[in-house]
Amino acid sequence: QSQELSQAHIDYHVALQALQEHGTRMVCTGKMHTDRICRFDYLCYCSEAEEFVFFHSNSSVMLPNLGSRRFQPALLDLSSVEDHNTQYFNFLELPAAALKFMPKPVFVPDVTLILNRFNPDNLMHVFHDDLLPIFYTMKQYSDLDDEARLVFMEGWSEGPHFDLYRILSSKQPLLKEQLRNFGKLMCFTKSYVGLSKMTTWYQYGFVQPQGPKANILVSGNEIRQFARALMEKMNITRVEEAEKDGGSAEDEKEKEKKEDYIVVFSRSTTRLILNEAELIMALAQEFHMRVVTVSLEEQSFPSIIQVISGASMLVSMHGAQLITSLFLPRGAVVVELFPFAVNPEQYTPYKTLASLPGMDLHYISWRNTKEENTITHPDRPWEQGGIAHLEKEERERILASKEVPRHLCCRNPEWLFRIYQDTLVDIPSFLEILKEGMKTKPTLKKSKPASTVHPGRVREPQCQTSVQTTNEAKLTVSWQIPWNLKYLKVREVKYEVWIQEQGENTYMPYILPQQNYTFSENIKPFTTYLVWVRCIFNKNLLGPFADVLMCRT
Ligand code: UDP
Repeated sequence: QSQELSQAHIDYHVALQALQEHGTRMVCTGKMHTDRICRFDYLCYCSEAEEFVFFHSNSSVMLPNLGSRRFQPALLDLSSVEDHNTQYFNFLELPAAALKFMPKPVFVPDVTLILNRFNPDNLMHVFHDDLLPIFYTMKQYSDLDDEARLVFMEGWSEGPHFDLYRILSSKQPLLKEQLRNFGKLMCFTKSYVGLSKMTTWYQYGFVQPQGPKANILVSGNEIRQFARALMEKMNITRVEEAEKDGGSAEDEKEKEKKEDYIVVFSRSTTRLILNEAELIMALAQEFHMRVVTVSLEEQSFPSIIQVISGASMLVSMHGAQLITSLFLPRGAVVVELFPFAVNPEQYTPYKTLASLPGMDLHYISWRNTKEENTITHPDRPWEQGGIAHLEKEERERILASKEVPRHLCCRNPEWLFRIYQDTLVDIPSFLEILKEGMKTKPTLKKSKPASTVHPGRVREPQCQTSVQTTNEAKLTVSWQIPWNLKYLKVREVKYEVWIQEQGENTYMPYILPQQNYTFSENIKPFTTYLVWVRCIFNKNLLGPFADVLMCRT
């Protein structure tokens, strides 16, 4: 793939004239800098100044036109990490007339997506912050197709996982440092700037301790579609899927048994499992399965994914390599190990992933509770958890502590000290946790193609009332089935009715199997009741409420 941008595809003079006459045009989505993606015609980049440039002319457009609010704090986030002050995007402004005095622009003919990778050295960050958001930002804008050009502006070099970024488009992604090769002024004919945050599920603890995002908008379905697309590009086919048709039920059971295996994802430099061989033996004996190990140090990424995509269980120390659990087949088990003094409940990127609705993974965590089984590394550099640089008192406090208190990202020395410990896994306690955890594993067959179709509104809701005595009344509510129900096979259809006496601030909820009901308890004569009705499929798929009924007894 050549770095050259073929200028032949565009008529240079036409492009230059368009830029001079029309200037830059920008139209964005999003009310805030944190949810904004902008589309530009003729956004330029000056490599000398390392700044993007917006050229004003009579026909340029800048929407939103924020004035100087554009700097409070920025036009948009260039990475998928929310409101991170090192990841802001903005541009300089110039009149188009200034072009006359500037170096001749080089035009980029490709539709370009401009963004910052957040931490391309770390596999979890690569997937969560970059690959998934890029993939779905490209899905959002149809001209960001396979021919789109990705431009990474964070300023890092390719990094160890660049092949994964290459998969997203047929064109070689450009790095910031390469932009200067194209000349002093580069103009993107059509570009999008920013990334969708729709697929991210975790916040890293910049403003509050790390944890799942408050409002997760992605489900297992989108994660799995992304995984499938990536596997296709890597030429990986799931053995499991290919072999599952044909043969009698018995044969298949037999085959499945044979094919079942456990993957131990091992780390070879830091945060080690010190008795990995023993752990593997224990797993094999306990589950009567083959156990294979993989590591980023020893295998290519595609070969690791090939193995993981057919596994029944993935066992690993907490760490970025666990992001590969998104390639596990449905129904698989994720077992995450935590070093001494690290509380699994407070570091849940992989638990959250496994628990996304429709991800259909079963998550189990184990933590080392035996201090004698941990190997600390106080003398390593601080970023690998060393604490030698700290005051004696602080060192002693950390060494005496049995659990890392909640903390912010990213340089908390106690956290780093503990998370970079090596661990001798206590096999009895590990197997105990595992057996216990497996008890609550749902069988996939039962919840099989768990439908995600929600009921429509119930139709023609009505109420009828009658007064029995001076303190007794009846309220009959009836309705028709939602319109989409007649096309669906639903295991269980129920209706929920809420009854509220007008003026009160509480309501009585009822769950009913039929399409009408007469209420007499707690119904008073000469009173107005507000009644809401909705349909529920299979216990948890809630439909919308029909318009409220006003029922006067
Ligand atoms: N890594 C690895 N083997 C190791 C240590 C790290 O493959 O022994 C990988 C790890 O999966 C991640 C990157 O190197 O992609 C950075 O690891 P680090 O420990 O800094 O991050 P963490 O795994 O805690 O997110």
